[in-house]
Amino acid sequence: MANCPECDASIDLGYDVVEGEIVECEDCGADLEVVSANPIELNLAPEEEEDWGE
Ligand SMILES: [Zn+2]
Repeated sequence: MANCPECDASIDLGYDVVEGEIVECEDCGADLEVVSANPIELNLAPEEEEDWGE
């Protein structure tokens, strides 16, 4: 369980998460980055949807 930094809703991460993973808050729809897996800590993900790295 972790809390959304945006709306403080409890987020049930019922699977193994890894650092750097992006999850979505079901409550407010914010993209959240897993900055720490143990204990789970979430930060708002930077708004970068377009990654034209290639
Ligand atoms: Zn939220």
